[in-house]
Amino acid sequence: MEEEKKQHRLLLMASPLQGHMTPLLHLAHILFSKGFSITILHTLFNSPDPDSYPHFSFHAIPDGLSEAEASTLDAVHLTDLINTRCAHPLKECLPSLLSDSPQPVPCFISDAALHFTQPICDEFKLPRLVLRTGGASSFLVFASFPLLREKGYLPVQESRLEEPVVDFPPLKVKDLPKFQSQDPEAFYKLVCRFVEECKASSGVIWNTFEELESAALTKLRQDFSLPIYPIGPFHKRLPTGSASSSASLLTPDKSCISWLDKQEHNSVVYVSFGSIAAISEAEFLEIAWGLANSQQPFLWVIRPGSIRDSEGLEALPSGFLENLGGRGYIVKWAPQEQVLSHPAVGAFWTHNGWNSTLESLCEGVPMICMPFFADQKVNAKYASSVWKVGVQLQNKLERGEVEKTIKKVMVGDGAKEIRDNALNLKEKASACLKEGGSSYCFLDSLVSDILSFAS
Ligand code: UDP
Repeated sequence: MEEEKKQHRLLLMASPLQGHMTPLLHLAHILFSKGFSITILHTLFNSPDPDSYPHFSFHAIPDGLSEAEASTLDAVHLTDLINTRCAHPLKECLPSLLSDSPQPVPCFISDAALHFTQPICDEFKLPRLVLRTGGASSFLVFASFPLLREKGYLPVQESRLEEPVVDFPPLKVKDLPKFQSQDPEAFYKLVCRFVEECKASSGVIWNTFEELESAALTKLRQDFSLPIYPIGPFHKRLPTGSASSSASLLTPDKSCISWLDKQEHNSVVYVSFGSIAAISEAEFLEIAWGLANSQQPFLWVIRPGSIRDSEGLEALPSGFLENLGGRGYIVKWAPQEQVLSHPAVGAFWTHNGWNSTLESLCEGVPMICMPFFADQKVNAKYASSVWKVGVQLQNKLERGEVEKTIKKVMVGDGAKEIRDNALNLKEKASACLKEGGSSYCFLDSLVSDILSFAS
């Protein structure tokens, strides 16, 4: 069996967004550890560093993006451009990638957002597996976009925000995915297209686990007549902090770990809104004062470009950190997995990107949920109302609300229950990867299905 697998090479194509690149590289490691040779195809924009992955081959697909276009400010527009511009170059290079490989290539694996790869794979008669880097519950909502539009839930109307979405309890209209793009229809069109091309694929791999999203996964199996492989959480299959685990496009500032070492257990609020979300300067100040007034220690990631029209740190009132006497620590980018697994961290104030949500669940860290766009609103609703491992920041982003919500999660009446729920899910996330666990078994079937493509 082992010998047979070593005779195969897999081509995996990554999206250049951090939240997509990380799970794809993790999946590549998982499949490498199962004996496959790996070639990563990537755009020139945000290309991964090959030196960090000496055991993989890399192949750049010219994306034709101008300096202005190569930006994550409008991730939908960027994804549309990649889907258009990379099609021809991929078609050009695929014959040589296939013929130059000393091993046969049983299939092509690509991020769901890169829907342009499906018709190309069809042309080359190459089975395509899809990696969906988000959760299954949010995907189910994406797959129902036409129905939600037909029923008038989409586009989201301000006057209906509190209305329940009857087909998707406990979601309300305000929890439905939306995205501010230069073209208001672009997000809807992109989602419908990538769902269609998922349906045309040979199977979908999910960075989730059966016990977390069983209802959505069951429904997806009914609605899509395709193999569905929930084999996550990916990052917990790799050693924390290892080169293979870290697929960061920015350099993490590890000095925060020594600061965390000095804090009491479960005392620190870790604040990070991922790699794309941006806030206004006014919102930034409300966060700062809310954190200061909460009296809890905090570790805050202020990513360059994450505050619109401002460099960030200089927007803070002068002497802000100094006046807190060491209670606050700010970095530009954190080693997030290490931070979340640190015993000092008591809560994660997150935007509920799927990776952050999963990373928090895996460490049993309660969440303060503040979703921005796309699937984040659905993830936040599940975290707060289904898994009950967090609290949503309600209403406006305002310092009093921030202080109240932090207290609720850290020391309020319901805090223990939230923490217990989080620890319970942490156990499940770990158990599913062990021999006989759900993700363990789905990975076995994924590997054998890949090998069956080659025979
Ligand atoms: N991340 C990190 N350091 C930070 C902030 C984020 O390593 O300071 C990582 C985080 O661990 C996660 C990814 O960036 O794996 C963000 O992905 P997510 O899906 O949460 O959100 P997105 O960036 O796609 O909005």
